[in-house]
Amino acid sequence: MKNLSKFYIAGEWVNPISDNMMPVLNPATEEQIGTIALGNMTDVENAVAAAKSAFDSFRLISKADRLALLNELKRLTEKRFEDLAQAMRMEMGAPITMARDAQADAAIGHLQGYIEALEKLEERYKLSNSDILIREPIGVCGLITPWNWPINQIALKVIPALATGCTCILKPSEHTPISAMVYTEIIHEAGYPPGVFNLINGLGETVGSALSRHPDIQMMSFTGSTRAGRAVTHDAAETVKRVTLELGGKSPNLIFADCNLEERVTASVDECMFNTGQSCDAPTRLLVERSCYEEVLEIAKRAANSITVGDPAQEGNHVGPLFDQIQFKRVQTMIQKGLDEGATLLTGGLGKPEGYKTGWYVKPTVFADVSNEMTIAQEEIFGPVLVIIPFEDETEAIAIANDSPYGLAAYIQTGSAARAERISSCLRAGSVHINGGGINYGTPFGGYKQSGNGREGGLMGLEDYLETKTLHGIV
Ligand code: NDP
Repeated sequence: MKNLSKFYIAGEWVNPISDNMMPVLNPATEEQIGTIALGNMTDVENAVAAAKSAFDSFRLISKADRLALLNELKRLTEKRFEDLAQAMRMEMGAPITMARDAQADAAIGHLQGYIEALEKLEERYKLSNSDILIREPIGVCGLITPWNWPINQIALKVIPALATGCTCILKPSEHTPISAMVYTEIIHEAGYPPGVFNLINGLGETVGSALSRHPDIQMMSFTGSTRAGRAVTHDAAETVKRVTLELGGKSPNLIFADCNLEERVTASVDECMFNTGQSCDAPTRLLVERSCYEEVLEIAKRAANSITVGDPAQEGNHVGPLFDQIQFKRVQTMIQKGLDEGATLLTGGLGKPEGYKTGWYVKPTVFADVSNEMTIAQEEIFGPVLVIIPFEDETEAIAIANDSPYGLAAYIQTGSAARAERISSCLRAGSVHINGGGINYGTPFGGYKQSGNGREGGLMGLEDYLETKTLHGIV
């Protein structure tokens, strides 16, 4: 069992001031795999003081030196790739093939995207009116990340902070601390000066809130639920910090009869269930043109039934358990809501899949005949649950798609490029995926409406961590 009880502050692994401990559980076995410390206010003060002190010199480090550090970080991330994948397999139940191909891969992909963006970033240039514009690091950043894509989220926040000359304090989800600690070891080995990067574990309401309120922190970057995003914004308001948020989603997936139905519907179901449905941009609302509705139901049912649930330690393309008992209960409650509200259960449903007593496994579930007013169509479920809603024409499809407090992603399946363009321009979402087009590393990611603000990845991801200064009168 791992001893994860230390924090990383000012370049050293230190004992926390707090004596509050919490077990870390493997969701596939329900066994305890480690113990972490949950920090208190003094731990936060120590981490912020280290980051504040380090900022004085790190902000002056040249772009060439920051790039050299990032390239070393990349070399070492590649070296520790398997450790990252195995950590996420253990702490959140990511099946090992997917933990490697998607979860750990994100650490390298995003890093490469940020390296290319930093190479292009102009940090000082002359405006057409002869004034000089300078981009400078914003300062000390508080970074709060969730459990569903642990290293993806850490990479999307920590790397731009380091790339721009900011210093930071990371508070990962206390449910997934192992991958965060491996990542901390990588940063340490890469040779970042003490205090540039700091790690503390703790609860959102204590450590997360203390970071958001701290007067020496200039920016908070948060990924998680809209509820917690609101709390961070509220806490940060007193000190007028910059706040960037990557929150929830209930992304629509518009299926038109002119697409290759068998291929596109099967891929859509797989994408919804990927990572056991625990992705903020998962296509969870399947909106289907009425003329092909019955055919789509058959394909969707077949596709969901062919998804296997299995042990994360096994290689393969099966889905694993949910990350914790808390999430298992939330998903069960939402499935029950769907039944109570009168949706038609096409496949899956309540309880664990046959043969699973241990582990937070759930059945891939599909509801048909859903109306967009139902709770299961409005609220994020964050489990392998797809809802299918019919529409008559493009106008109605767009109206249903946009009838959500969220606006993270949208998906369109059609044989018509003109239709895809036309509909994309009407959808209130940060990214639109057409016929399975995936997002590439280096492309900005983020949402409209209550899915957040700011963008992560690439050049726009760097810009969130920069201040703008103008110089006047320099010849
Ligand atoms: P949370 O938003 O509560 O957790 C995400 C992170 O925020 C954690 O590190 C958490 O710490 C922290 N946090 C929580 N409250 C605060 C606060 N007041 N101030 C600062 N930080 C805080 O997600 P949950 O784990 O509760 O999941 C609930 C739902 O959120 C899911 O079912 C899903 O719908 C959605 N979600 C969306 C994600 C996304 O990527 N958009 C990611 C994760 C969840 P702690 O764990 O201690 O609360």
